[in-house]
Amino acid sequence: MDNQNEQQIGFIGSGPISLIKAYLLAKKNPQFKLTIFDLHNRFGGAWYSDYSPKGHEIECGCHIMSYCPEVENYIEEELGVKMYPFNPAPIFVGKSIKLPYPTKNLIDSYKYISKNLLTLRWGNLNISDNPAIHAKLFGKKNKYPKTGSPELIHALANKLKEAPNVTFKNGLEIESILIDDKVTLKTDSEAFSFDSVYLTSVSKIQTIHKNGQSITVKPKQVDYIHYLLELNKPLNKKMTYWRIMDDEVVHRYTDISYQCHHEENLVLAGIKPDPFHSKSEEELLSHVINHMKGLKLIDDSHQIELIKTHLFPTYYSDKTAREEIAKLDDRLQLLHSTDLMYGMYYMLKEEGEI
Ligand SMILES: Cc1cc2nc3c(=O)[nH]c(=O)nc-3n(C[C@H](O)[C@H](O)[C@H](O)COP(=O)(O)OP(=O)(O)OC[C@H]3O[C@@H](n4cnc5c(N)ncnc54)[C@H](O)[C@@H]3O)c2cc1C
Repeated sequence: MDNQNEQQIGFIGSGPISLIKAYLLAKKNPQFKLTIFDLHNRFGGAWYSDYSPKGHEIECGCHIMSYCPEVENYIEEELGVKMYPFNPAPIFVGKSIKLPYPTKNLIDSYKYISKNLLTLRWGNLNISDNPAIHAKLFGKKNKYPKTGSPELIHALANKLKEAPNVTFKNGLEIESILIDDKVTLKTDSEAFSFDSVYLTSVSKIQTIHKNGQSITVKPKQVDYIHYLLELNKPLNKKMTYWRIMDDEVVHRYTDISYQCHHEENLVLAGIKPDPFHSKSEEELLSHVINHMKGLKLIDDSHQIELIKTHLFPTYYSDKTAREEIAKLDDRLQLLHSTDLMYGMYYMLKEEGEI
């Protein structure tokens, strides 16, 4: 057997981007041995779940899949997760519209507009290729699993658990990487060697060493916080997901009652990372309640209780470190942590799966 056949491959993080890449690799190369590390004792990264007071599994981190029919079909056929139209469709509330060109003078604006038209681009979106633009221009509806993201994450993790060539190592944080004749991942007390390693732009790595050269990654920690709120009765307006653009405290609301087949009235409020550090939990909660009243989601007859607070830290590596990592060694591959659907779309396209 040659080396190509018996490759040992490591993954730093068991978020969906790593899980999808690992799934494709394991399926196509049953002779590869894959090991997936995560500092948490669960899978799915930012797509994490928890249990409601009545014991329903509900999503707590991410909530929305962009419009991408090819990936929706792939999820249904390959992972066996039935997808339903998001109803009502997600709403983006806010005034800010970002133009993909500078508006400082008319000549510059015209130059950029004509360049965008000629190259079929809107900002960094390619109009002809990117499914997001089809959703925006033609109002297409995105789809979602009936009981939310846990369905998708379990389906993916179960496929990987069934694969005899995949091992999960949870509860282990990789601190540094050493590249010589192997790529070695080090925790505070152990070392694991691989032929190649995948990490994502949110993998929290401190240093990478190769031939006396070292890259110091200073990941920027951003703490996302979600409040799980229990209501005494349904919301006044039917909604699934509202992203709030202009409020300085609230990031989004998600009605997750449908995930428990409407047996519970539950809403998740996403709090923007910065105010969390400067405001007390009571202050934030009262802001959320007033904000929901302002949007007429609730009124004075609603009673609202904070059931749980979820804190999810994400570690974004800086652009310079990402560029250095990309150039350092072919055996260390950087996967871009991005919107789930587009992450999957480009990966599945690259692999010829869609
Ligand atoms: C709060 C929040 C909400 C979001 N909402 C949406 C949404 O609604 N829809 C959408 O499409 N996208 C959303 N995103 C974007 C989201 O990041 C992607 O959808 C997707 O989760 C990216 O997957 P990933 O595998 O790259 O990273 P993540 O899902 O962030 O997973 C990274 C994993 O790596 C692990 N890890 C990191 N460093 C180490 C280490 N040193 N050792 C071991 N393990 C490590 C972490 O514990 C984590 O489990 C959201 C992101 C955040 C933070």
